[in-house]
Amino acid sequence: MLIHHIETFPLFYRLPKPYGDANGMKMYRTSYLIRITTDAGVEGWGECADWLPTLHKGFRERIIPYLIGKPIVDRSQLVLTLNKWHSRAAAAVSMALTEILTKSSGLSVCDLWGGKYREKVPVYASFQSYSEEPDWQKCSLGAIEKVVAEGFNKIKVKIGGKSIAEDQQHVLSVQALLQGSIDLALDANQSYDIAAVIEWQSLLRKWPNFLWMEEPLQMKRIAEYVMLRNRLSVPLAGGENIEMAADFIPLLSEHALDFITPDPMHVTGIDVYRETLRFARNFGIRATPHVYDGALTRLYALFAQACLEPWSKMGADSIEPVEWDVMENPFTQLISVQPSNGEIAIPRGIGTGTEINLELLEFYQWDGSSYV
Ligand code: MG
Repeated sequence: MLIHHIETFPLFYRLPKPYGDANGMKMYRTSYLIRITTDAGVEGWGECADWLPTLHKGFRERIIPYLIGKPIVDRSQLVLTLNKWHSRAAAAVSMALTEILTKSSGLSVCDLWGGKYREKVPVYASFQSYSEEPDWQKCSLGAIEKVVAEGFNKIKVKIGGKSIAEDQQHVLSVQALLQGSIDLALDANQSYDIAAVIEWQSLLRKWPNFLWMEEPLQMKRIAEYVMLRNRLSVPLAGGENIEMAADFIPLLSEHALDFITPDPMHVTGIDVYRETLRFARNFGIRATPHVYDGALTRLYALFAQACLEPWSKMGADSIEPVEWDVMENPFTQLISVQPSNGEIAIPRGIGTGTEINLELLEFYQWDGSSYV
C-alpha cells in the first residue's frame, strides 16, 4: 500500500481574550492537520503545530512531494527522514501512518500497541492562569471553579510569570477554594533559580494536595534538579520540550525528576513517544504527558497511557494523568472525545475510533495571512 495523496488543513483562531503563562500572552491558537490517503483509499490523520506559514511551505514544497508513492510499511524510515527536516511534521506523519496501518489491519491503535490496561484514563484541567484583566487572580479562580463544577479533580495552574509574592497569593487563594479536595500542580515554565524555588518551600509543605511542581528551573540544570528533589516536599516534573527520546536519559538516570512530561507532538513521532514512556517505566519514574496543542495529539497520548503498564501496585491511581487544556480553544472540539468526571473513556473501534469534525476544519481554516 502506497501513499497516494496528502491534504493539509491549517487552522487559526484569534483569541478574543488573550491568556498566558510565564512565557507570555497567547493571542491566538493554531493547529495543522494532515490527511494521508493511500492508493487503496485508506485514510489517516495527523497533527502538528508551529508557525503556520513555515509548516505550510514545508509540507507543500518538500514533505508531500517526498512522501507520495512511498510504502506505508516503511513508516520508521519515512519518519526518521522527515525528522531531519522538521520534527513536528514527522510527528504528524507518524500519527497518520499509524492510523492507516490500524485501519488496514482491522485493529484499533490500542490493539496495535499491545492492548489496553484500562478503559479510562484520568486527565487534569490545565490552565493558562494569567490574563490581561485588571484582576487576573479573580478570573483564574472563576475559571477553576467552573471546571471543578464540571467534575475535574486535578488541576494545574501557572506560576513564574509574576512576582513570587503575587503568585503565592494566587496559589493560596486557589487552595482556599479547593479546600484540599482537588489535586493541584504548579507549572513555572523554567522561570526560577534554586533560591526562588526554595522561597516556595514553606507554602508547599502546608498542603498535602500538591501533585507536582513543573519545570521550576531550566531543564538543562540536571544537577540542580537533583538537589531540589532532595530538598522539596513535592514531586518535580518536566521535559515537555525535549525532542529526542535519548535526551530524557540523563534526567532519568540521574533521577532528577519524579515525573517526565513528554509531548507526543514534540518528540519525533508517536513511536518515539511510546519509547520515552517505556524509558520512564524502566527507570521507575512516572510519566504524565504534556499535550497543550492539538486534540488528535492528545488522543494519541491517551491511547499510549491506556496501553502503559501501571507505574506501581497502588491501585486505581497507578496511571498518571494526561494534560487537558481547559482554556478557550475551539480545536478541542475537533474530536468528540471529551472528559467526564476527570476521566476519558478510551474510544473503541478500528483506527482511532473517532472522526475529525470536518465542519470545524472548514470554519477555522487559516486565510494564509502572516498573523502577527
Ligand atoms: Mg509545562
